[in-house]
Amino acid sequence: MKFVMTQAVCQEGMELIDGKASVYVAEDTNLQNYLEQIEDTDALIVRIGRCDASIIDRAANLKVIGRTGVGYDNVDVKKATEMGIPVVITPGANTRSVAEHAVAMMFSLSKNLYEAQREMEKGNWKIRDAGKAFELEGKKVGLIGLGAIGKETARICRGIGMSIAGYDPMLSKEEVEKYNIEYFANIDELLINSDIISIHVPLVESTKNMISMKELKMMKSSALLINCSRGGIVNEKDLRDALNNKIIGGAGLDVFSEEPLQKENDIWSCNNLILSPHSAAQTKEAVVKMATMCVEGCLSIIEGKKWPYVANPEVYKHPKWQ
Ligand code: NAD
Repeated sequence: MKFVMTQAVCQEGMELIDGKASVYVAEDTNLQNYLEQIEDTDALIVRIGRCDASIIDRAANLKVIGRTGVGYDNVDVKKATEMGIPVVITPGANTRSVAEHAVAMMFSLSKNLYEAQREMEKGNWKIRDAGKAFELEGKKVGLIGLGAIGKETARICRGIGMSIAGYDPMLSKEEVEKYNIEYFANIDELLINSDIISIHVPLVESTKNMISMKELKMMKSSALLINCSRGGIVNEKDLRDALNNKIIGGAGLDVFSEEPLQKENDIWSCNNLILSPHSAAQTKEAVVKMATMCVEGCLSIIEGKKWPYVANPEVYKHPKWQ
């Protein structure tokens, strides 16, 4: 049995494979650079990097693709399904980690922590009088997407006295209100009425550029925008213009339309913006949960078992699985 990984999973995940399979760890996000390794592998674990149809076509022995996370926009799932290959995901493993990260960005921005530190480093103690910090208690957080991470973010925000509103077209009013979340049937109303917007939706055709200048202009001029979901959902150029022209109050981004974010990107010029390197799911706890769940799923599928946590459950109707 053979595993190929774009990057190593953590030790706890590697230990599950020890003695069962050979492992090729590429430490290279461009899968085209080691196709000869992919050609005879049973499992391909893709962390950062694109697993498109041309890669799947070359992998004649491939039985499973693994993702250490819930997003799978970097894998051609349609092609995998056509080939009878399940795409293992790890729902729940990083939910708490990402929700805490979104709330950490809310705290950091609302206390103006990043600018305060930069100014202190320059000797500007008077930054304490900037008058930019505010309390989160009593503010309304508008959650776009009320899946696992959206709901966990709601739970944490409620604990610190915020009021919670949400928009998720897949959920009924009753389903949303069951979680004590104010229901908005339309995204515009949510944008207009929230003090903080936090995005927790997948990157799909309908969510691309979901937040562009039109939407940013609907937000309060003091509002904060947090995106810990996927780059491409927020139009970065429009966000830069909105921050520079004080159309909104601040933003926190963990994800970018191109990753890694290049030093030349104009977004760096904005004040009141905090950035992290797609690290919301990288807490020690989440990393172990994601790796072990992903490897266990891959091993199970190679043994012919129908592992339930896959992005393409319809794959089990493929003749290979009959
Ligand atoms: P989930 O599938 O549990 O929830 C996604 C929710 O989005 C669902 O309730 C769905 O109905 C809703 N949704 C879909 N389209 C929508 C739309 N157009 N408008 C509003 N809501 C819509 O997924 P999750 O575990 O909550 O994760 C959410 C996203 O977070 C993932 O798809 C992934 O892209 C991202 N994520 C990022 C990181 C990171 O490291 N920053 C880690 C994990 C997940």
